[in-house]
Amino acid sequence: VYVIEISGLRKTYRSRTGSVVAVDGVDLSVGEGEVYGVLGRSGAGKSTLLRCVNMLERPDAGTVRVGDVELTGLTGKRLRTARHGIGMIHQHFALLSSRTVAGNVAFALEVTGTPRAERKARVAELLELVGLTERAGAYPAQLSGGQKQRVGIARALAARPQVLLSDEATSALDPETTESILRLLLDLNRRLGLTILLITHEMTVVKRICRSVALMRDGRFAESGTVAELLRRP
Ligand code: ADP
Ligand code: ADP
Repeated sequence: VYVIEISGLRKTYRSRTGSVVAVDGVDLSVGEGEVYGVLGRSGAGKSTLLRCVNMLERPDAGTVRVGDVELTGLTGKRLRTARHGIGMIHQHFALLSSRTVAGNVAFALEVTGTPRAERKARVAELLELVGLTERAGAYPAQLSGGQKQRVGIARALAARPQVLLSDEATSALDPETTESILRLLLDLNRRLGLTILLITHEMTVVKRICRSVALMRDGRFAESGTVAELLRRP
């Protein structure tokens, strides 16, 4: 069963000075419970591709299905609801600086429609899941990078998504912290059956947690397969 299915995806950015084909005909199928990596240099189109998976960017052509929802046709409230099934984490965490750790997670619960009466217990559960219970009352500025990303992960999982999108989630972290975040992602993949689609420019990240990988270059997948297969190729 494929949880994410992308077919013929294309995205062009147009401006007065010309146009850039950022994603140029990508097909991608990600199986349930898989950790799938898209690896490529800066400018390859990885971020655009990822942002098309939750329609933060609208593709010019192609289709994107996540779970049983075809996203490309959706707008407004139906798109927002569909997005609850897709969590996302970011390189620079994107936390609300005026809210505590618990407040950031509670806000995500509010936005995705968790009833007030359930929020407190669910915040506690999510913080426990990412190992941040002790830091519930801290503000983002008081946290280490790894702790900030744990908040990002807790927030992304608020609506119990089937899929997590990771946009260079460890690129701002030192190697030791990177390892602890990757271990957490693997743990969530195994315990929750969470399907993870990640983009990265680092082969070490792919080797550490991905089963399958696509190499992206100039908006296209130059190669794809299991990590083991790709490492064996000359
Ligand atoms: P990556 O994530 O692999 O670094 P991106 O998807 O960010 O690649 O970028 C792919 C191409 O699209 C690049 O040439 C980039 O300059 C261009 N691009 C990305 N975002 C925009 C945008 N909002 N407007 C115009 N061009 C963009
Ligand atoms: P903020 O002031 O940043 O909005 P609060 O500390 O008021 O954050 O908490 C926001 C939400 O998180 C509330 O729903 C609150 O019940 C919940 N919350 C606060 N501290 C904890 C905690 N230690 N464990 C679980 N939930 C908490």
